[in-house]
Amino acid sequence: MRIRVKNLKYIVAILIAILLSLAISGVVLAWNYCEESFVFENGVDPLYYQYYSGTSQDTQDAFTMGAYYWETASGSPVNYEYTTGINVDVYCYEVYAPSWPGVSGHCWHGNQQSNCYLNTYVTASWYAGKRISTAGHELGHAIGHGENDNELMDHDDYWRWDVLGIETPQYYDIYYTNQLYD
Ligand SMILES: [Zn+2]
Repeated sequence: MRIRVKNLKYIVAILIAILLSLAISGVVLAWNYCEESFVFENGVDPLYYQYYSGTSQDTQDAFTMGAYYWETASGSPVNYEYTTGINVDVYCYEVYAPSWPGVSGHCWHGNQQSNCYLNTYVTASWYAGKRISTAGHELGHAIGHGENDNELMDHDDYWRWDVLGIETPQYYDIYYTNQLYD
């Protein structure tokens, strides 16, 4: 079969699209692997968190309330404690960069420390409640949580807070947390 030059362009474009989607799904799989493989070996009672120096009051307040809500949610095994000491399980950072609101990860220090970030470029203009909602979401990732829809672990900040008004861990947020740490 003879391939016309005109058709060849489409074939190359399709091949590039396939390669790109494989590369992207590879990144996503790597991230999920990191998420799902993670639990704190010593459990989450207590779990020491700390703000990185220079963190604004608004961001500190968001993480403080986010941590408090994880601790006080019905049936929660999590006991977030603020510390100024050197034994830190979860570091809370503030950054200023387009264009995501918050992010969290835990592939540091042999998987026994998590880092959470709030991005003031996006969150500074938000209502305090929405910052709390996003900080709480990232604190959920920090303990090894993946995403679950329509609860605090819903990844869509607009849907979670502006539409559903969620600032606190909900039923399955806590259910899955107990599965991670029972
Ligand atoms: Zn998320």
